Amino acid sequence: MSDAERAAEVLTRLRELHPEARVELDHDNPLQLLIATILSAQSTDRRVNLVTPELFKKYPDAAALAGADQSELEEDLRSTGFFRQKAKNVIACCERIVEEHGGSVPEDMDDLTALPGVGRKTANVVRAVAFGLPGITVDTHCKRLSQRLGFTEQNDPVKIEHEVGSLFPPTVWADVSRLFVWHGRYTCKARTPLCAECNLQDLCPWFRDQVD
Ligand code: SF4
Repeated sequence: MSDAERAAEVLTRLRELHPEARVELDHDNPLQLLIATILSAQSTDRRVNLVTPELFKKYPDAAALAGADQSELEEDLRSTGFFRQKAKNVIACCERIVEEHGGSVPEDMDDLTALPGVGRKTANVVRAVAFGLPGITVDTHCKRLSQRLGFTEQNDPVKIEHEVGSLFPPTVWADVSRLFVWHGRYTCKARTPLCAECNLQDLCPWFRDQVD
């Protein structure tokens, strides 16, 4: 079986195993998803979801966030960790969205990654989930699973994005991201992967190495 055939089979099985897989950051529009993803760095989706309902009520659009008082926003974001840097980035990011994009989150990768606090991972989440555009989201879970499945030996997220992306047609990249992140988070865990609950054992070089 070629890597591409194995990749296709992995995707089929992950779809069967995790029909509930989804992006867990609560949001109603692209801006809310962008801000929630920025806040999720070094935090958990659950923690962010506790903060964002009040946050988005208080600051309903990019202009409101761009005009936020820095110290007040820091307090609003405190429980998500790294709140000073996050507040600074959120304000600067929304200023740029207002000044250069008329208050709407841009779709273009270069425009997104030019926003303060927005890296490729965040940009890919927004592009795939909010706009339905092709993008592989390489977070810690996707990276670990891709390595264990032998789809990459790279550590650099951009190289992983390209190597994993090359195994799948772009039309399914959003699905790959959603399912790899979910499977990595809940089954192929970092310290103790739940291989007994995984339907990829016969496709997984990492598992084979453990039992050999
Ligand atoms: S068999 Fe184990 S190591 Fe391989 S993908 Fe499944 S959980 Fe991860």
